[in-house]
Amino acid sequence: MGRYTDAVCRQCRREGEKLFLKGDRCYSEKCSVERRPYAPGVHGQGRRQKVSEYGIQLREKQKMRRTYGILEKQFRRYFEKAERQKGVTGENLFILIERRLDNIVYRLGFAASRKEARQLVTHGHFTINGKKANIPSMLLKVGDEIQVKEKSVSSAKFQELKEQAAYKTPPEWLSVNVENLNGSVLAYPTRDQIDTPVNEQLIVELYSR
Ligand code: SF4
Repeated sequence: MGRYTDAVCRQCRREGEKLFLKGDRCYSEKCSVERRPYAPGVHGQGRRQKVSEYGIQLREKQKMRRTYGILEKQFRRYFEKAERQKGVTGENLFILIERRLDNIVYRLGFAASRKEARQLVTHGHFTINGKKANIPSMLLKVGDEIQVKEKSVSSAKFQELKEQAAYKTPPEWLSVNVENLNGSVLAYPTRDQIDTPVNEQLIVELYSR
């Protein structure tokens, strides 16, 4: 378990900032970025080398991928889809990724991290519009209703999450009913409603090389 925790936190240390991958731990003094604010590995504390333009673009893409827990191939597919859509590619990319079921579970406050949200989804604790939904990458649409399954509501896990969710405020594009452990998609997010600190333009530039 210790090793795994470290592997997750290394991703933040590699990016040089908190990506909030571990839930409550990220807000505590146990956070590895707080304790060891330098890159992992033997050269982590050495002099920082000058980073090329390509390197900066690459880091930004990795940061976004790691924040949302998406593998390279799938991330590329989101980008290609975003490019085909009308509008600004970088914003389209963000909106597509925000619509993922695991992200929405996290945004609603029904999981402490996106990683936990993925696990809960995979274990079949949610329905969308009354139907079983256990695929974390499923993209939700406006009007979709998400519900914690009746038999899961009384579990200790969801009772604990319910208490925590009561202190969280979901973004304006989602509505939540903490008491009933359900929520819905009111609209797709606009860029200014997404608080992920990533410069998506750098990712567009990277993939346009
Ligand atoms: Fe680990 Fe969270 Fe801190 Fe990142 S923000 S280093 S995941 S505790």
